[in-house]
Order: sequence, then C-alpha cells, then structure tokens
Amino acid sequence: MFAALRRTGSSRSGERRTSRRRPTSYYRVAGLDLQAEMDRLCRLPAFGGLAGPLGRRPPGLTVRRASKRPRSRLGFAIPEEWRISVTAFPGQRRGDAEETLLHELVHLFVGTSPGTRRWHGREFKATMRRAMREGYDVGGVKVNGAYHGAYADALERRRSQQPARRSKALHPDQLALIGSIARQG
Ligand SMILES: [Zn+2]
Repeated sequence: MFAALRRTGSSRSGERRTSRRRPTSYYRVAGLDLQAEMDRLCRLPAFGGLAGPLGRRPPGLTVRRASKRPRSRLGFAIPEEWRISVTAFPGQRRGDAEETLLHELVHLFVGTSPGTRRWHGREFKATMRRAMREGYDVGGVKVNGAYHGAYADALERRRSQQPARRSKALHPDQLALIGSIARQG
C-alpha cells in the first residue's frame, strides 16, 4: 500500500486531480467549507504538519449528498487513490461533518493495520484522539466502539459553550458588576 502511495505521490496528474476545481458551494456542508477545513486539518502536527504526507499533498475530497442520514457509513477513505468522501445529509450538525472529515483523514494517514481491526485499530484511535485535541481542542471523549457520533457530540457541546465563555471574557462591565456584587456581599 505504501508503494502505491509513493507512486501516486510523485505523479503530476495526481497533484492536479486533488486541487480545488469545484465551486465553493459544492464543499459547503452544515455551514462549513469542507475544503478549507480539510486544508487546515491536513497540517495538524498529528499528521506531521506541513511536511507530513497530508500537508505536502492534500487529498482529493468528494462530497456525497444523501436524502437522509446514512445508517453507518458517513464517509470513506481510499488510501490508494489518496482521496476521501464525506456524506452530507439533512439535519447534519457541523460537528457531524467535522468528525467525519477528520475520521477519514486519519484513515488516509494511518492506513490499515493487520488483524481484525483493520481500519479502526489502536493507531487509528490514538491518532484520532490527538488530531481532535489539536484541531478542535476536544479531549476526554469515550468512543465505545462507535466510530461516528461521540466526537460529534463533544464538538457540538463545545460549540454551544463557546459563546458564553467568550462573552464573559469580553465584557469588562460584567466583571465590574460581579466585583461590586462581591463587595456588597
Ligand atoms: Zn472509519
């Protein structure tokens, strides 16, 4: 498999194939520009940064649009072709799209492992955990054998908490008020 990767890695047509050639609307999923987000995630230290395989050559990205949420397969990765696919569906949360995108990138980076857990082995889980922390500051997630959903929930929780945290930090008036209440109390 690695021989195949190296071969496609050095081909010029392969590089051209992975460049953005579709309109931005094609990549817009759940309010997210998947192409831009993928470019950002490809440079994470977990993947070796800019000098890593994903940073050097961002993979091809396909967006499939389903009429309803797929039961299990929310995306897929084809390491031999250095490309991933993310499925968009009605009711999809931004966290769902982010989780699937990163999940498939980790597949490209890790490849398959020997044994029964070919795709979701120990290295996959460890890389996913690290990339989630680096990319989204999300950690301490118990995956429990479900490959999709747990991180998406954590991403959504984090997003719902963020505005509150930010407004607290940005309002000196509020802090002064809290200070005066504290003095009164
Ligand atoms: Zn998977």
